[in-house]
Amino acid sequence: MAAAILDRILKPDGSKYPADFEQILSLMGGTRSLGASGEEFVWRAYQFGKKAHQGQLRKSGEPYFTHCVEVATILAEMKLDSVTISAALLHDVVEDTGYTRKDVEKEFSLELANLVDGVTKLSDMKFRSEEDKQAVNFRKMLLSVADDIRVIIIKFADRLHNMRTLQHLPAVKQRRIARETRDVYAPLAHRLGMYRIKSEMEDLIFNILEPKASSELERLIPKRQAFFEKYVQKFLEPIIERMETTGFGATYKSRFKSHYSIFRKMRDQNRPFEDVYDIYAVRIIVEKVEACYSVLGLIHSFYTPIQERFKDFIAQPKSNGYQSIQTTVVGPNGFPVEVQIRTREMDDTAEEGVAAHWQYKEGDSKASQDDIDQQVTWLRNLVDILQTEDKTTSHQFMDLLKIDLYKDEIFVYTPKGEVRILPLGATPLDFAFDVHSQVGLHCIGAKVNGRIKPLNSELESGDKVEIITSDSQKPNSSWLKFVKTSKAKSNIRKWIKGQEFEQSLRLGKEILEKELRKIRKAKEWKHLKDPHLTLKFEDEDKMIASIGSGHRTVASILTKFFPDAYVKPKKEKTESQFAESFLNRARRNTKGVSIQGIDNMMISFGKCCNPIPGDPIVGFITRGRGITVHQKSCETVGTNLSEKERIIDVDWAAARAQTFLVRLKVLAQERKHLVRDVTETISSYDINIDTLSMKVDGDVVTGLVVIEVEGVKQLDRLKSKLLASEGVISVERE
Ligand code: MN
Repeated sequence: MAAAILDRILKPDGSKYPADFEQILSLMGGTRSLGASGEEFVWRAYQFGKKAHQGQLRKSGEPYFTHCVEVATILAEMKLDSVTISAALLHDVVEDTGYTRKDVEKEFSLELANLVDGVTKLSDMKFRSEEDKQAVNFRKMLLSVADDIRVIIIKFADRLHNMRTLQHLPAVKQRRIARETRDVYAPLAHRLGMYRIKSEMEDLIFNILEPKASSELERLIPKRQAFFEKYVQKFLEPIIERMETTGFGATYKSRFKSHYSIFRKMRDQNRPFEDVYDIYAVRIIVEKVEACYSVLGLIHSFYTPIQERFKDFIAQPKSNGYQSIQTTVVGPNGFPVEVQIRTREMDDTAEEGVAAHWQYKEGDSKASQDDIDQQVTWLRNLVDILQTEDKTTSHQFMDLLKIDLYKDEIFVYTPKGEVRILPLGATPLDFAFDVHSQVGLHCIGAKVNGRIKPLNSELESGDKVEIITSDSQKPNSSWLKFVKTSKAKSNIRKWIKGQEFEQSLRLGKEILEKELRKIRKAKEWKHLKDPHLTLKFEDEDKMIASIGSGHRTVASILTKFFPDAYVKPKKEKTESQFAESFLNRARRNTKGVSIQGIDNMMISFGKCCNPIPGDPIVGFITRGRGITVHQKSCETVGTNLSEKERIIDVDWAAARAQTFLVRLKVLAQERKHLVRDVTETISSYDINIDTLSMKVDGDVVTGLVVIEVEGVKQLDRLKSKLLASEGVISVERE
């Protein structure tokens, strides 16, 4: 024993290590678990870092390198491998000293240089708005995971130490950094299961952002300490007594929850500190998994469990790897007590999250990375979305993230019994997209536990889900309203965007050809080489589509090539003049729509949303094709909002009695007389059926009915009547 200690304290040449390095070494388990070469590696990194930062000081006046040592110490406590610890010692070398990434690679290894480089890249960013900044930050962090998740772990330790030493900065800067930690780091740490780091960060954030409440709690908590300690002792007494004979090797931990989470409970329950009881947690750690359940049984035999608070995350781990049994029971005197039961390994994972993977795998980082990849598939998915969708706006991006970061989870099964983890409130459609994007795009319904359920129904933990697809199915924008996963959202959006582009392209071609004929330049146009380059478009299709989508006028494009055709005769009108003259041109009430008191317009109805009387509508002025009327909620209008001068108010004219074609999709369980009942129901409203087709797929029937209705009210009545008939699952307007 004495020899082993001496072994560690003395460097190979017999002199002593500095105390701070010695501490890192002992936290890592000393030479014995590190190996002589591992120890030598970390020691070289220490010396290199110390020399590189020589002469630099922190705001606190301490030598800069103390920060690097602290960061390495945090990671050593988490039992990370020697390469990560070394990278922590060097994490600011490339950014703040004269050394380059190449120097580090030459001196140490490619793996280490990559880690340092990853951390450096995460820190040099320039931002605009707060939201932009957050989004950029998140995106960078997540993409860095694609290479090596340890980059994030180092960055977390770096941030944690900076938060611990924030008092040396001016107050404004303190608050800014605290907010960023709250918005970016804490949620990500949570998602990666790094609860210990997360709760320390949250308490530090809490100190800075809520100084009053925080110092109040610091005053109050010690006062209750004695009470709780006694109480927990009394609570555990009968259990410990019984456990002593079992040989489960149990250890007991109990402590206050983090200050921040106590504060949140007080705020959420709107209670003073004295009245909040759920602030103390008891943890029982045993050696074997089976023992967890025995302990659970024992606790429940002494105290009554609160049913809805029982959770078995051992049988169903959270997607971040968290495993534990959680139960809340009614303790002595009627106070609720939360008990967590888990094995030692589960406890490590619960505290350190993904970082725990390196603990027992020194020297085999590739295997760890694969292991983690498997466990944090959600992260992988998110990274995939990020890599394919580089044009999402900051806002959309934060939206995607929030969904994934803050939702609770449910566990559902495929027909083969495979588990899928989805956010709370997920629908069969989310499940379908989770299986494969093609399955999602063609999904028409699902059997949940053998019964057919509509696409927007909410799944529950334990549900067995079988997706029904059809080649003729196409996504529509109403799906976006109820799907919960970012995977589903981004896939649906992508599809719709593609669809819109096709439409714009088709329309753009028509307009262009017509205009070319008008100015008699069709031939010349054909001989132009790459006209899109002149106008700085990526390709010709994009240029033509911009005409169809109304982002450019055809004249503004053709005038570049045929200026003669556009001089004088007619002054080129600005967009708003154009709209005005168009409005003034004709006056008559057509097809039941009146436009700002003016009528006689060329009116058509958007094929994308098929509005009928009663729907809230707007008009969109198209060039040469009059006004198209869309539902207010229609995506086409949404995407053209940038061109406000083309959008005008329109109203349904009350007087006209006229019918409109509406396509209904009816999804139903197969049964006798289904078709007869549907048609009879429709006829009973005096509604004409234009066409009707039914397709049977297993025991699901998809019916497409085109009917002539007078308006929304009549349609709504019909829809609810249809829904009430036996076996009908959903009735949707297409
Ligand atoms: Mn740093």
